[in-house]
Formats: sequence, C-alpha cells, structure tokens
Amino acid sequence: MALEKLQVDSLIVGGGIAGMQAALDLADQGYQVALVEKEASIGGKMIALSKVFPTLDCCSCITTPKMSAVAHHENIQLLTYCEVQALEENGGGYTALVEKKPRYVIEEDCTGCRECEYACPIDLPSDFDRGMGAYRAVRVPFSTAVPQVATLDIENCILCGKCEKVCPHGCIDFTQTARHFEIETTAIVLATGFEVTPKDAKKEYGAGQFDNVIDGLMMERLLAPTGPYGHVLRPGDGKEPDSIAYVQCAGSRDATLGIEYCSRVCCMYAIKQAMLLSGALPLADITIYYMDIRTFGKGYEQFYQTARAMGIEFVKGKVAQITEDENKNPVVRVEMLDEGSKIVERTHDLVVLSVGLLPGYNPGSLYGVPAADDGFVTVPSPNISPSETARPGIFVTGVAAGPMDIVDSIVLSGAAASEAAAYIEAHNSRVAVSESKGKKELAHV
Ligand SMILES: Cc1cc2nc3c(=O)[nH]c(=O)nc-3n(C[C@H](O)[C@H](O)[C@H](O)COP(=O)(O)OP(=O)(O)OC[C@H]3O[C@@H](n4cnc5c(N)ncnc54)[C@H](O)[C@@H]3O)c2cc1C
Repeated sequence: MALEKLQVDSLIVGGGIAGMQAALDLADQGYQVALVEKEASIGGKMIALSKVFPTLDCCSCITTPKMSAVAHHENIQLLTYCEVQALEENGGGYTALVEKKPRYVIEEDCTGCRECEYACPIDLPSDFDRGMGAYRAVRVPFSTAVPQVATLDIENCILCGKCEKVCPHGCIDFTQTARHFEIETTAIVLATGFEVTPKDAKKEYGAGQFDNVIDGLMMERLLAPTGPYGHVLRPGDGKEPDSIAYVQCAGSRDATLGIEYCSRVCCMYAIKQAMLLSGALPLADITIYYMDIRTFGKGYEQFYQTARAMGIEFVKGKVAQITEDENKNPVVRVEMLDEGSKIVERTHDLVVLSVGLLPGYNPGSLYGVPAADDGFVTVPSPNISPSETARPGIFVTGVAAGPMDIVDSIVLSGAAASEAAAYIEAHNSRVAVSESKGKKELAHV
C-alpha cells in the first residue's frame, strides 16, 4: 500500500459548516490544516437547506463562498471522499491513516463539465434531494459541490462506457483504487455533525409508509430553488398541497425512542419553513402542532411572533397517530392540550415531521473520546473549555458536540480553533525547549 505523507498542525474531521469554520479560523492564523470529509463534496447539511433562520438568507449563497474559501486557502489541504481508518499517538501528537475511496474519475483532470453525467443512462434516487429527485450513476454531487468533480457510483454502474467516450479530458478510470494518506498532526478537531431521527422511527406517524408524510430535511429540499421539482409539490402524487401540518418533537424529547433531549433547532426550522411556505403557496393553510415552542436565540422570539402574525396556526396538541385516507391525505389524530385534552382528527394534504438531531458518527473507539448518555461527544468542562474533549489535543465542534444551530456551530468552531491553536503553541514550545536542550547537551560532549 503506497502511503502519501502529510504533516499538518491540525486535522479537521468533517466538512460541514462547523468543520469548515474551524479549518478557516486555524488556517487564517497561519496553521497548516488538513480537512477530511467522507462525502464527495464539503458543505454538510447546511448546503442542502433552503434558507436559514432567523435572517432568511439563501443558504447556498452563504455556504458556497465558505466552501470555496476552504478549497482555495493556501494553508488547507482538502481531502474529500476520505475517512480516517486508524489513529496512533506519536509523542505529543497523532498520526492518522486516511483512506480516499476511488471516484473512478481522475480528480486532478476533471473540470466538472458534466458531459459524463448527461451521457449516463442510469437514474438513481438522489441522496442530496432526500430520495425525491434523481441523479445519474456518474455525477457531480450537486450544482455547487466543492470540489466540482464527478464521482462514479460503481455499485450501480452498468459499465456501458458512454461516460468514458464523451469525457473531453479522458478522466474516467474504471481501474482506480483507493489511495492512502498518513497524516501527522498535533491537534484534531472533530466536526462530524449529525443525522436526523429516521422518519419511520415513530411507527404511529406512518412516515416511510405514507408518501405524503415527510421530514424537515425533505421540506428543505422542496423549498430550495434547486430542489427536485422546482416547486413545493407533495411527493405522493405531485399535487400542490393546500393544507400543510408540522408535527413537533417527532424524534426528540421522546423517552419511547430513547431520545430524551431537545434538538433545539426543530421549533425554529418549522417556523422558518412555515413562513417560506406562506410565500411559496399563499393560499395554503399551515398548522404547527406543538407541545412547547422553544425560541432561545437572539431575534428568535420575534421570528415566532412574526409567524403568528402572518396567520400560521399554532395548535398546542400532542399528536398520537397519523393515518392516511383513500386520497393519500394524512389524517392527524391529536390531543388538543388547550381544549381540555379533547381528541380530534384533522386531514391535511402534507405532513412534515420535525425530526430531531442524532449524532452523525461515534468517534469513541477510533479517537478514544467517550460519548455522553445522549450519544454526543463528552465535553468534560463545558463552562471553561467548551470544545475540549477528554483526550488531550482532540477538540469537538458543531453538532458532534450536541444539538445546535448554525450560529452556535460557528461560535463553537471559533472556540475550537482557539483552543487547538493554544494546544499547538504549547506543543511547539515543548518541542523547541527539548531541541535546544539536546543541542546544549551535544555542545558539552
Ligand atoms: C431540517 C433542518 C433545518 C435546519 N435549518 C436551520 C436554519 O435555518 N438555521 C440554523 O441555524 N440551523 C438550521 N439547522 C441546523 C443546522 O443544519 C446545523 O446546525 C448545522 O448544519 C451543523 O453543522 P455541522 O457542521 O455541525 O454538521 P453537518 O452539517 O452534519 O456536517 C458534518 C460533516 O461531517 C461529515 N462527516 C461525518 N462523519 C464523518 C467522518 N467519520 N469522517 C469524515 N467526515 C465525516 C459529514 O459528511 C458532513 O459533511 C437545521 C437542521 C435541520 C435538520
């Protein structure tokens, strides 16, 4: 196995908004950084969102410049489609063995022209669009992907060779194998993010079974200008929905699922989506079924009050069950908490489950950092060192540390970069002292 060797000050694991921000904060201070991302592009979940609360900025417009800054920074080496396979201590720092999966496309020569994609005859459900749209077996992952390089899904490729014939630069390489890197680093920042609660986790809500019961990330794609249909349509039959309901805490604060914590972003993203839907479908009725509304951040309560003033209906109620009628309309059975716990059934065209945030990756065995009871990385002294893990030199940021929004992820990444920088400086001075001691001892010989 040929090993390509890199030496850096800090290794960042995960290229979502938190990892990108930590990488930029360290690189801007002059530290050498390697950023390892397991997917074919950086950007994480944020690049797939429509707009962001509380400002309603276009998500792609604010994420793409960060992705580009990471890719072009002279102090950052970007390693996409890569995962850390092994980690060892090396006298004050760490050595990581990283594997880069084959893209079957020569990355250095690909210009992202997408000729291969247009020629490919295989359509697959698009992961980026949460299964609602299609993409080809060979494709650039999405329009603003960084790097703009095609990746071929060998599992689903029929080896017809059409991509190879049309590629103007001869980039398709069916013989490509994995590459391996050995990265020596002083500090590590974990930014491995989250997955959402599987939408079929609560069987009584019928998601996974009913096409018109979707999750919050699917609604983000329906609302995005680059979304699968270019318009908000319900996935079951392509009909424009006239009545849309949100079910809050569908995968958080739920002891039956073993997820007892609040995911912190679901109230705000449901309110945001409801506002965006009022703009996209002005005649639609929008209802949010909730137990408590939690609007903890700066400007968030005003955001909620604006949504109420816009006519979005907030119903304090506990949704017990969702079924489907003969027209594929979801029927919500709800205990109305403000109406003496009366049980009512209401029919909607589309139901969105406000699913919660689960840890995206458990770094426990590989990185030797324990997870807390909720599965997120333990931070032993959150009030003093909010990004320091239990292992020296390993820091954590973003949702890998616990549910948080983008603002808090960016703030914590600044803290992680600052704590990592202090650790690197202390390490470098220890090395300098021991080197000068060694020189003095040699001079005495
Ligand atoms: C439906 C929905 C809507 C939202 N809307 C908003 C909003 O409007 N405003 C707001 O402030 N917040 C919003 N959020 C929250 C926001 O998405 C998160 O705060 C933010 O994306 C966290 O970024 P992150 O970098 O920590 O995680 P992620 O975005 O999950 O990034 C983690 C990255 O790490 C990579 N990775 C994971 N494991 C590994 C590994 N082992 N090796 C290498 N790479 C790895 C992943 O592929 C990913 O690229 C929303 C969340 C949801 C679910």
